[in-house]
Amino acid sequence: MSVKKGNQRCSFCGKPKDEVMILIAGIEGFICENCVDQAQSIVLDELSHKNHQHSTVGLPASKVAKPKEIKFFLDQYIIGQEDAKKVISVAVYNHYKRLNQPHHDEDVEIEKSNIILVGRTGTGKTLIAKTIAKLLNVPFTIVDATVFTEAGYVGEDVESILSRLLQVCNYDTKAAERGIVYIDEIDKIARKSDNPSITRDVSGEGVQQSMLKLLEGTEVYVPPQGGRKHPEQKMIKVDTKNILFICGGAFDGLERIIAKRAQATTVGFKKADNRIDIDKDNLLEYVNHHDLKSFGLIPELLGRLPVLCHLDPLDKIALRAILTEPKNALFKQYEKLFQMENITFEMDEAAIEFIVDKAFEFKLGARGLRSICESIINDAMYELPGQTEISRFIITKEYAEEKLNKSKLRKLKVA
Ligand code: ADP
Repeated sequence: MSVKKGNQRCSFCGKPKDEVMILIAGIEGFICENCVDQAQSIVLDELSHKNHQHSTVGLPASKVAKPKEIKFFLDQYIIGQEDAKKVISVAVYNHYKRLNQPHHDEDVEIEKSNIILVGRTGTGKTLIAKTIAKLLNVPFTIVDATVFTEAGYVGEDVESILSRLLQVCNYDTKAAERGIVYIDEIDKIARKSDNPSITRDVSGEGVQQSMLKLLEGTEVYVPPQGGRKHPEQKMIKVDTKNILFICGGAFDGLERIIAKRAQATTVGFKKADNRIDIDKDNLLEYVNHHDLKSFGLIPELLGRLPVLCHLDPLDKIALRAILTEPKNALFKQYEKLFQMENITFEMDEAAIEFIVDKAFEFKLGARGLRSICESIINDAMYELPGQTEISRFIITKEYAEEKLNKSKLRKLKVA
């Protein structure tokens, strides 16, 4: 179709070329940037709807979102972390294929693909797990490995992981049995030395031992209210065979272990082109199961977490993107909060740069962004609601600096 330059307009909303920024030509017409944006939201909603409408279990593989679709969904919320997003998209897809495998198919049994994520704090481990659960519409819960102790000791039994899962799906056992559990701080239950312990290690190795069956797949009697098993509580039987476990941890000190291995041998560090080219700033990239064993996870546990992937540390470009780009970026959230007060919220370029620099300095990953923004914006969020004179609130670098200097965050020591 040929259209005279002056007559070009978006075939979807009808706006002429001079009223939009970009007009993309197709075979039959044009589309403007606003309609691309809108179309993308519709695709995302549909994708999510596709999984929400029907349970993803029991559907033919063709109806479950494909790895590329899963990754596309993750891209809307998670900046960077390309490797992790890809690995997880495949693992989750295979997990659901496994669930949909006919019972009589006894030729090849697809094994469970529980996942272990290794990455510094605030780099998106929990966010990835949460976003996956949002897409798949299965019960999802986050538990912290540090609260567990070996059965019979003070602390929670590992079975209470499943109590939480049951609670989020209103005790629908069938739903819980295909849910996803994110176990945070898995590194905190590492055993204290690389040698098997002689004395009991009830909060480290002991917990790891008690998690084995759960991760692999077994029938567990779960106290519905969690906590200790009280004889008077009626237990609920849950089969964990089809529950996907994603474990995450920062593994402080793991880089030293990897570096030691790198010095001892260069095997295993070769890239595809056979050049040995180690990125010393991102040693986690080379992590393998053996390093995690040296860190203190027992081989039996590692064997039940076959999918291992790392998350990259966030550089300034990623931090900046996290502040402004994802679907529910921090900046967009503040914009919304102020919009509800009829106030336009803005941040100038220098202020954004200042916040990103500080977050990078504090080494708290994207978590730092939030605390810094809170301490800068809190006064305004206290003062502005209810007043009528101010309709625009612009954060400049000077304002940001002044507010941050007054806050306790300033005292945060940089390691
Ligand atoms: P952790 O790796 O410690 O589990 P989280 O996933 O809890 O970190 O991240 C903390 C917060 O930081 C998230 O709620 C999210 O807002 C933000 N965040 C961290 N990493 C990313 C990322 N890669 N992309 C977008 N937001 C991120």
